Amino acid sequence: MSQTNPKKIVINTSEDLESILKTAQEAIIVNLYANPDFNGFHVFDILAVKKFVEILKIKPKEFNEDFELKITYLVHLSKCMLRIIDFETSFGNIDSFRVARYNDSDFNLRDLFSKIKQNKIILKAITSTIEDLTEYSIEDVDLNRIQLVFFESNIFRLNGVAGISKVFMSLSSFENFLQKMVSNKFNQENKKLMARLYFIRLIVHELVHVVNRDRKKDLNTSSPKMSDFHSLKLKDEEFKDAGIIAEKKIFSQRIDFFESINQYHALNFQYIASFYDDLIEKEMDVKFDVLKSRMIPSSTVPCMMGIDMDFEKNSFTFE
Ligand SMILES: [Zn+2]
Repeated sequence: MSQTNPKKIVINTSEDLESILKTAQEAIIVNLYANPDFNGFHVFDILAVKKFVEILKIKPKEFNEDFELKITYLVHLSKCMLRIIDFETSFGNIDSFRVARYNDSDFNLRDLFSKIKQNKIILKAITSTIEDLTEYSIEDVDLNRIQLVFFESNIFRLNGVAGISKVFMSLSSFENFLQKMVSNKFNQENKKLMARLYFIRLIVHELVHVVNRDRKKDLNTSSPKMSDFHSLKLKDEEFKDAGIIAEKKIFSQRIDFFESINQYHALNFQYIASFYDDLIEKEMDVKFDVLKSRMIPSSTVPCMMGIDMDFEKNSFTFE
């Protein structure tokens, strides 16, 4: 796999935040250098790279949470298997990333975030994913100190980023999702249900990445190499991303929520609502029946490490 490199810099997450971020600035360069998909320096001719280089030059006294978000995103991005145009899009839009406030009274996402972190079925999905990947057992994972932070960006299919003891959730993507439901004439109740499931999928995905990096004390960690993988319990086709493996433990497949809501009349809301209730309110060990729900599985499963993103069909371009 192209994202692994033995000389990769460890970004020790047990250090203070300033040291972590300074190390991350260096690590991004090394990652990009080692990433065969990034491939060559001609990319430095493009205008978009200027914005990216500016971020690497920022001094500690200017570090803030916006910077933390951008640099964390770039650490993950620098290891992704992507086309040059996707790097360009990211670099060109990196200045649009900013932490945002969100009044989530419609969906009570903060309340749901607390419930997810305490849910024993979800906790099992997260710990067993990490155990499958690393072959060491995890006990007493404490998700409580992991925070939820909202942000905005111009990359509308970017759903979230795994931070240091933080899940960054994109409001731009979420608002886009809500808007699509309005266009498809969802009633309020179904809109709320789908918004909450969208949130659960995203949070499960990102929590795995956060916990994994935390356990390894390295923000710059990668999933195992394909060659190492045969000795582990998972099948090759399952290997893409730890977040996706955990999603599958809850939702059976990676669900494409954007595609699914285009099927408003086909969706089995009764079943979806009972699944939600069983999982979140009753904490029952349920497995999502995709066929019954009539939701649409993702046709593309990107290897994006700590970044959660949906792609348009037949395209690997961000926008
Ligand atoms: Zn992921």
